[in-house]
Amino acid sequence: MSDSSVERQASSAEGSGAGRPPRVDGDRDPRLEGRVLRRVAFTEDRIAQRVRELGAEIAAAYPDGGLLVLGLLKGSFIFVSDLVRQIRRPLQVDFLVVSSYGNETVSSGIVRLVYDPQAVLTGRHILLVEDIVDSGRTLSRVIDVLKERAPASIEVCALLDKHHATHLAHPPRFVGFDAPNEFLVGYGLDHAENFRHLPYIASLE
Ligand code: 5GP
Ligand code: MG
Repeated sequence: MSDSSVERQASSAEGSGAGRPPRVDGDRDPRLEGRVLRRVAFTEDRIAQRVRELGAEIAAAYPDGGLLVLGLLKGSFIFVSDLVRQIRRPLQVDFLVVSSYGNETVSSGIVRLVYDPQAVLTGRHILLVEDIVDSGRTLSRVIDVLKERAPASIEVCALLDKHHATHLAHPPRFVGFDAPNEFLVGYGLDHAENFRHLPYIASLE
């Protein structure tokens, strides 16, 4: 796939950004390590638009009280950095490291909490930010741990929801997009630690 076709695909997938010149020279997007995109599921423009909307929704949902945005690393790092700049109210940011997939594209079902935030959670409104909800195991485990610290509230904001999780005690209150049933990379999402830096969200051949 030529790079300009990557850009065209990125633009046409959601019907925005058409007519922009390609931003990368050469035959392929050099960020892809020779891999070929199956399709761009969400373009950079579409993501930016949705993140602005989510920021406004979140600001309106928390009229007052201490808000702690807690990102689940690594997958949420780009989403969190864009999202917090769209939430027009006081807040603080911290991160948790959770590992659930290793280098596989299929869930192992094992969730490890590798790091705990230093922040005091007691009495605070926690907004847990997740890249993508699949089985919901990661979320359930993290929420159980956080609840022990007696926060005032816990809500979840997920960029993507695959809607495979049923009977979640805490379904995400804020969702960016319904995710297609494909393995997605980009905008923080990896495959074996690659492709996190793609500005769009795509599936690979
Ligand atoms: P769950 O615990 O809900 O089954 O899985 C959630 C985690 O699995 C996400 O935080 C993410 O790290 C990973 N995951 C689930 N689906 C995908 C996907 O389509 N692409 C990538 N890169 N990671 C995924
Ligand atoms: Mg991952």
